[in-house]
Amino acid sequence: MTQWQQFKKEYLPAVLSKLDEKWDVFAPVEQEDGFRFKQMPAAGEVFLGPRKPLLPLKLLFLPEVEELFSYSLKGVSPELTQAVSGGRERVIFGALGCDIASLDILDRVFLTEPVDEAYRRRGEQATLVALACVGEGPECFCTSFGIDPLQPKGADVILVTLANDTPQSEKKETKQKFCGGAGGSFPKEPPARRRQEVFLLKAFSKKGKRLVEALRPLLTEAPQSDIAQLTDLSSNSRGDVPADSLPREESELWDLPLWKNLASRCLGCGVCTLLCPTCYCFDVEDERCGAAGKRFRAWDSCMSSCFTKMAGGDNPRPTKVERVRQRFLHKLSYYPREKESVACVGCGRCTVHCPVGISIEDVILEINRFLASGGEGGVFEKLPPSTPQKTFVDSAGQVSRTPGGKHE
Ligand code: SF4
Ligand code: SF4
Repeated sequence: MTQWQQFKKEYLPAVLSKLDEKWDVFAPVEQEDGFRFKQMPAAGEVFLGPRKPLLPLKLLFLPEVEELFSYSLKGVSPELTQAVSGGRERVIFGALGCDIASLDILDRVFLTEPVDEAYRRRGEQATLVALACVGEGPECFCTSFGIDPLQPKGADVILVTLANDTPQSEKKETKQKFCGGAGGSFPKEPPARRRQEVFLLKAFSKKGKRLVEALRPLLTEAPQSDIAQLTDLSSNSRGDVPADSLPREESELWDLPLWKNLASRCLGCGVCTLLCPTCYCFDVEDERCGAAGKRFRAWDSCMSSCFTKMAGGDNPRPTKVERVRQRFLHKLSYYPREKESVACVGCGRCTVHCPVGISIEDVILEINRFLASGGEGGVFEKLPPSTPQKTFVDSAGQVSRTPGGKHE
């Protein structure tokens, strides 16, 4: 079954329930502080639209806090029990292209020897149902990285929302007007047309075919008229942010004046990194209780002042200048040098949620301007002060805290 299939919007609850028979189903739902992926939400809660969940998809592959193993020193010999991740396979329903593309960036880290088994298993067990993204926000520039928000690479199934006009039955729906008078007529209006939402879906992998096959009783083949509408879909994402052309030798970018400028504004809150789908720094900590304990890993942030602090007190990145520079150069220069790809997917979360409005897009443009001017640029210094944007106060406290962990 590789043709486009379809189901009506009102079948969504049945579709999710059908999937839940075989898979753990995750889909985005709206909560007070934004959209989040939630396991088997009630169908009415599911938001299938072009708005990005607040926390990126990496959350389902690299959890905020994760037990690695537990140990006991109580017996004659120490016991160590590896934490087992896994269980049922998962369907991630309604993921957007930028988030799906971010998994490729994480794969290049966690699937390189030594392979991270927990991450690998979650990837193997996941079937990704991508929602074609047609209404991105002004912060989006995923197409600058060659990402197709309509049919993202890596998706097992593509889901498209369409609104089509369906003729309504004349008998039920056609209204008649009373014209009055003997011999008066009751002219008919042309058959009314009703707007109805349908979902089109198509498998793009073996996993995807399995999913579509499981839904077969709820699907019908999509009519040509609907398939034809797909060619009209287009994305608004900006594709002209020149992120891929930056030098990969750090010496060329090390002393740019903009690092100081950014550091003077940055609060060091780490929101940009915690919400970034491609940031993968973590911390490892033990929680000990008597002769037994557990080891955890939890998301961490290179923007935290203690991230690189060593046991003896030394810190190779003692000020915000070094930390800000590290964040941007890792994404735009170091990672590409090692992994052949920029470590950004243009989702814009870091820009939208930075309390002081620091924008990675501005940074990329400024570096390009600086280099183009032969080092005489410094346009960034002349930019007006950023307007604080939507803050992250409510949700920041819910993100990534190692049990017992310390963040300065
Ligand atoms: S750096 Fe910003 S725009 Fe790029 S992937 Fe991360 S959050 Fe999205
Ligand atoms: S979100 Fe903004 S203020 Fe907070 S650490 Fe990132 S760049 Fe700095």
